[in-house]
Amino acid sequence: MNGPAFLLAVNFIIAIFFSLVFVVVSTRSRSRTAALWFAAGFAVASLSSICELLVAYTDLTKFWAVGAFAAVLGGLILLLIGVGELYGRKISFAYACCFLGASVALDVFIYDLPRGTVTHAFSYQAPFALVALAGAVSVFLSTRRLIIDRVLGALLLVTGLHFVAKAGLAVLAGAGTTAKDYIHTNYALISQSSTAVLVVGVGLTLLSVLVLEIMADERSNSERDGLSGLPNRRGFENGVKTAIAHASKARHAVIICDLDYFKSINDSYGHHGGDLVIRAFGDLLQVTAPKSAVLGRIGGEEFAIFMPNTTAEMAVLLAHALRGGTMGIQIGALPPSFSVTASFGVAEVEQGQEFTDAMRNADDALYEAKRSGRNCVRQAMSSALPRSAPIKIVK
Ligand code: GH3
Ligand code: MG
Ligand code: MG
Repeated sequence: MNGPAFLLAVNFIIAIFFSLVFVVVSTRSRSRTAALWFAAGFAVASLSSICELLVAYTDLTKFWAVGAFAAVLGGLILLLIGVGELYGRKISFAYACCFLGASVALDVFIYDLPRGTVTHAFSYQAPFALVALAGAVSVFLSTRRLIIDRVLGALLLVTGLHFVAKAGLAVLAGAGTTAKDYIHTNYALISQSSTAVLVVGVGLTLLSVLVLEIMADERSNSERDGLSGLPNRRGFENGVKTAIAHASKARHAVIICDLDYFKSINDSYGHHGGDLVIRAFGDLLQVTAPKSAVLGRIGGEEFAIFMPNTTAEMAVLLAHALRGGTMGIQIGALPPSFSVTASFGVAEVEQGQEFTDAMRNADDALYEAKRSGRNCVRQAMSSALPRSAPIKIVK
């Protein structure tokens, strides 16, 4: 087996390997369709290596040479469809087939032209370059702007340009007089290895895009409460950290809410009834709190609202609105006589104060609201002390 034939075999194995990995990734990815297009793309592209070997070692030269061309281009087009799917620029499969058909026809047409001429080399490489460059355009025009997306766009751009460079090299260095000679030329060696490197690069980058997406989804799931749809305690705390980092002012407010006599709701309407109430209260928070607020279900029937750049007085107004809203909660599956109330503790997050201290103040205020008979709002008095602020009654 000579060098180019060996490289063809390596390309084949790599492409099949990528195809299998994309199938596996598709089972976990939210971009399942894109992953399957990538798998199909690598599977189809792998056939090109077999075709190229058959060009060298059988007499059906033209048939296999055109087959190799179609396999590489078909694989690239499938990758492009996947990239379009992933980056929000869907590509019609019918148009893609027409482009492939026209390109194969062009390849058949130029097949008998002398190799290494400008006409042959550029006509042969143009469809590949166009597809890779179209992929780069899809990535660069998309709203996805992570570093990995930039890397993919750049790599597709380089891949597109490398096809143009290959055409130039075929003219300068010669690509064999016939398709059969091709495999024994230096050009074949350079062409195969540069394409192999870029194919591996594109494959790994696409894989990274999908894996990072899966990791972000896992992280978001681990920070979300499935019942209320709100962030859980960890998600809430991370959300608060981010909000404080981006806040324009140094003073913020936090509200802790706790449903009253929730145990008796469970006792009266069952655990499922209780779950419906938790979900309804979560919905109430979502529609009532300002967009900038960070919400969280931080315990069983306990919720928190962090309001950046907001005074405690403003937060008290929101707490009162929520208290009224809670009394208005109606749940279709529960009897009309059902009613629920909640108690609220409000605290200011003062400049330089640890957020956990402000939470403790809000918790003390909530405890005071419970002690005062529930269904009311209490505010921790603003204090220079880091904790245990006195409680203010807010009617
Ligand atoms: P208080 O007015 O003092 O807050 O009384 P409470 O009964 O609401 O508070 P307590 O802390 O004594 O009980 C809370 C109950 O909430 C106990 C627990 O079984 C229930 N709970 C916690 N998480 C869930 C949940 O996800 N679903 C349901 N249905 N119940 C839950
Ligand atoms: Mg409670
Ligand atoms: Mg509680």
